[in-house]
Amino acid sequence: MFRTRVTELFGVDHPIMQGGLQWVATADLVSAVAEAGAMGFITALSFDSPEGLRAEIRRCRRLTGKPFGVNITLLPTMRRPDYDGITRVCLEEGIPVVETAGNNPERLMPSLKAAGVKVVHKCTSLRHARTAVDLGADAIAIDGFECAGHPGEDDVTSLVLIPRAVDALEVPVIGSGGFGDGRGLAAALALGAEGVNMGTRFLATREAPVHDRVKQALVERDERSTRLVLRSLRNTVRVMHNAVVDRILEIEGRPGPTDFAELAPLVSGQVARERVWEKGDVDGGVFTAGQVTGLIRDIPTVAELVGRIVAEAEAIIGGRLPGLLA
Ligand code: NAD
Repeated sequence: MFRTRVTELFGVDHPIMQGGLQWVATADLVSAVAEAGAMGFITALSFDSPEGLRAEIRRCRRLTGKPFGVNITLLPTMRRPDYDGITRVCLEEGIPVVETAGNNPERLMPSLKAAGVKVVHKCTSLRHARTAVDLGADAIAIDGFECAGHPGEDDVTSLVLIPRAVDALEVPVIGSGGFGDGRGLAAALALGAEGVNMGTRFLATREAPVHDRVKQALVERDERSTRLVLRSLRNTVRVMHNAVVDRILEIEGRPGPTDFAELAPLVSGQVARERVWEKGDVDGGVFTAGQVTGLIRDIPTVAELVGRIVAEAEAIIGGRLPGLLA
């Protein structure tokens, strides 16, 4: 068992977090993560309205008595999320921890903090981490360039970003981006982090509510299988390489400014939800995946995955590493 400021903050057994996974982090996955002794977050933007989120929180509570949180992503989106309504629902439902991500959490922070909600802010740079801590964030999940989804524009990998964040911040740091096994957890702890955040690795679990062909693709593809799209708009997203991605990159590669309107039908999350996640057409839309794809070899249950990551990290830290000391 590991005990860190992150396990204390979340009130969980293991220093492992399943942060925002748009369309995927529903009660099915989040309750399994909670039951496995880790910390899961329901993604608020996966629901059409704050009331949809409320229903999902209640469904999750019926599936687990253990703590879980809500992810509120603040990136550009084609819809206009009702952030005030989402925050109100989190407070009314007694959510203990909120993960903010993607942009300055200033507008949400006062009401969350006033209600005693713990806030983990996920970001990709030290300057954004510093801002969030100054606003009251209780922990920072620092997202290295390896990550799925939005790695930011600085392209700094976890190996450098984590110790930089640990040195610069007084709050606990959670390593994010590139994590999927016990070696990663042990490495993150060695770098000074007090937990890891995993997204792509949780996608390839039995409980993740996505089509089996997506999970199988993660097993079959490797660490070279992702691409960066929307870089021309400074809203870079790491996604699994497929035919749609090639079309996007061809449009972005043309001389002159990129018009998002041309890309919107190709990058649409709604399209991905229907064609990829639900129907299993892995060439049907863009779906996020991290370089950790190269480390995914199977589709275990969440409990099996969490259990073996912790056991492997314990064996490394308690067995292999001490044996290297002369
Ligand atoms: P969506 O369908 O609204 O948008 C699809 C993609 O286009 C997203 O990457 C979004 O950031 C981008 N986008 C939207 N409007 C844009 C604009 N005007 N200019 C440039 N880029 C634009 O997104 P969704 O699938 O409904 O997801 C909801 C939110 O969750 C989005 O903000 C998305 O970025 C975010 N998300 C984050 C991650 C991650 O980092 N882990 C993964 C998936 C989605």
